[in-house]
This record gives sequence, structure tokens and C-alpha cells, in this order.
Amino acid sequence: MAKVGLREWLAVGRAIAEGNLIRHTSKSHFVDQFESRLASQLGVKRVLTVNTGTNALICSLAAAGVGPGDEVLVPAYTWLATPAAAVIVGAVPILVDINETLTMDPIDLERKITPFTKAIIPVHMANLPCAMDEILAIARRHNLLVIEDTCQAAGVRYKDKFCGAIGDMGTLSFNKFKNINIGEGGAVLTNEERLFARAVNFHDLGFEYRSHGSRELTETPFVGMNMKANEMQGAMLGVQLSKLKPMMTRLRRRFEMFESMLAQSGKFHIAPHNDPANAVGLCITFPSDREAIAFARFAGVFRLLDNSKHVYTNWTSILKKQAFHPRMNPWEWAQRPINYDFDMCAQSLDILGRTCRIDLGADYPLLIMYYHAKRMSQRAHRLVRH
Ligand SMILES: *Cc1c(COP(=O)(O)O)cnc(C)c1O
Repeated sequence: MAKVGLREWLAVGRAIAEGNLIRHTSKSHFVDQFESRLASQLGVKRVLTVNTGTNALICSLAAAGVGPGDEVLVPAYTWLATPAAAVIVGAVPILVDINETLTMDPIDLERKITPFTKAIIPVHMANLPCAMDEILAIARRHNLLVIEDTCQAAGVRYKDKFCGAIGDMGTLSFNKFKNINIGEGGAVLTNEERLFARAVNFHDLGFEYRSHGSRELTETPFVGMNMKANEMQGAMLGVQLSKLKPMMTRLRRRFEMFESMLAQSGKFHIAPHNDPANAVGLCITFPSDREAIAFARFAGVFRLLDNSKHVYTNWTSILKKQAFHPRMNPWEWAQRPINYDFDMCAQSLDILGRTCRIDLGADYPLLIMYYHAKRMSQRAHRLVRH
């Protein structure tokens, strides 16, 4: 969660003083500037700001042409927005287990592919990158689209790239809990002009008269929604973006400190990470639930199964296959019967039950986090039987 303060307040004031709250006018510039800065910072060709991360997912799926009859692979551990976005465009979500990295398990991913699979949405949960090399290799073999849900990992590196800039498309969220925080907001990322042009079309009703830079929609416009961001959001985003890299640096320092401290105690199994050299998220895996529950009593430690809104067993609308109208129900159009049950991703439930996330305390002084980590490692013997 990124802090919002005086600089954002002043930036919004400036946008109001300029008297131009909507983008796409002769005077607007805040959203445009943010998009080009974010594109160069993340090394992606195109950025389209929208009003939520959920809409960024819906817009990406629509741009990629995912719809009725398609199956979309999503992890069993993510926010409800990921499977819901698939349903909104008329596709059905198919749940894939996570492995100990807390992200999509490439082995289960391959098992879940059918002739009807169209796209994969790997989710970089809690600043933990997915195994993108393996996922992209599988996607290429089966000719599937990859839309990275990067809503919880803006600014996080995966090897020599940034999460969200690796697959066909990527999405960011700028809601209150994310690395870039303006209350609500989101963005679509892509390197492909055609996907960008289709995303632009979809996010602004599909009406042609507005210029969005050098977009080249060579197709006939299609009906879309209004997901546009406004200039006040753009102004805040500009300030928040300046804070992203320093936040990642602070997280990285705290990660290294915690890692060496906890390794010293010899009692902790740090969850495997898909890019250890750039890790900015730390999870500890225990042999059983019991130790994880005990460890979660430390301040700033959370057992993943307890933050249960991210666990598929709590997605009632998905599990019960409910749409807003019976004739707009994607499960009716699926090419085979799709059934969900509570134990369908038992491997995920097992891992989430015995894994804890440690809040690295990016906003606390390093020294305070050092003493916190020291206390944790000293008391480890009470938690873990060996
Ligand atoms: C936050 C989040 C979203 C949706 O973002 P909103 O801006 O809240 O709509 C999607 N996926 C994941 C994994 C998220 O954490």
C-alpha cells in the first residue's frame, strides 16, 4: 500500500486549477504524461490508463478477443476480479493450482489446457512474480494468449523485465492497497499495436472521433464501455509513479535483511521464489498448518489461508456459476460442462494453510524492521518442531 500525501494533494489542485478535468482535450496532459512515463519505466510500448484494475482485465480480454465458448486459465489464489473478468466477457474461468511460489503451477497449468482454452491469466500475487519463462513456453506450445494480472505487483522485476510487460498484455491496479495508489484506477499494458488499438476502442465506447496518439484501429469500431481515467487521477498517478522505484528499493533491502536473519536461525523454510535475485516479497512455508498459525501471531505476519478473500473457496458467484442475467451466463455457452467444487484445488489449500507472508514494512525504518526480524528468528524455536 503506497502512501498518499501533500504532493498528490498539490497535483490534484493543479489539475483543478487548470480547469480541465477530462482527458482528450486540447489542454489535457496529466494522463498522457503518466502513460508515457510508465511505459518507459516498465519497458513496454503502450499503456492505457483506465478507471480500475478489474476494468483493465476486462478491457484486455476484450482487446484480445476472448469471449463466449472460451476457457480462461486463472490461479486458485487471486482476487475475485481475475475470474470475474473472464465471466464478464462471456468466457469461463478454469482454476489452476498454485505451487509453493504462491503463483500458478506450470505443471497443473498444462494439465488444465483443453481444445477450448484461449488465454492464461497468471497472477503475480503480493509482489511475487510468476514463473513466466515456463508459462510463456506452455502458452507458445498451445498457441494461447497470456494476460499478466500485475495488479498486486506494479514495479516488480522478473529477470531482466518488469511484470506486466512480458506476456501479450498486462494489467495494473491503482486501488488503495496497491503499489501505486490513487484510491481506484488501473492500466492496460501491451507491446502490440493491434491489441492496444482494440483496448483503446473498448475503453471509450468504440466511438472513433477521439485521438489516442498514433492508434491504428484498422478494424471497424466495435461497441465498448466507458472506462476512461480523468486528469485528477492522472495528476496523482504522476506523483505516485515517482515513488514506485524507491519503494521497490526499500522492499528489496528489507527482503535481504529478513532473509539473512531468518536463514541464520536455521528454522525457517523461505518459500521458493521465481526470481530470487530480485525478490521483494517474502513468504515462509511450514511443514503444517499448526506452525503457520503460531507464526501468524507475530505483528506483520499473515497466514495466507486467513486472508481468505483471495482463496477460490470464497468466490461464491463463480462457484455457483451466477451471472447477472440467466441468458448472459457464460457457463451456458461453454463447450463442455464446467463443474466447480471446494476441493478442486486441494494443493493450493494445503500450501496456503501452511504459508505465511511477512510484511516487509517498506514505510518503517530499516532499523526497526531489523529488530523485528531478530526477535522473530530468536523465537523461532518455540514455533517449529524439528
Ligand atoms: C486489486 C486486484 C485486481 C482488481 O483491481 P481493482 O482496481 O480493485 O479493480 C485484480 N487482480 C488482482 C490480483 C488484484 O489484487
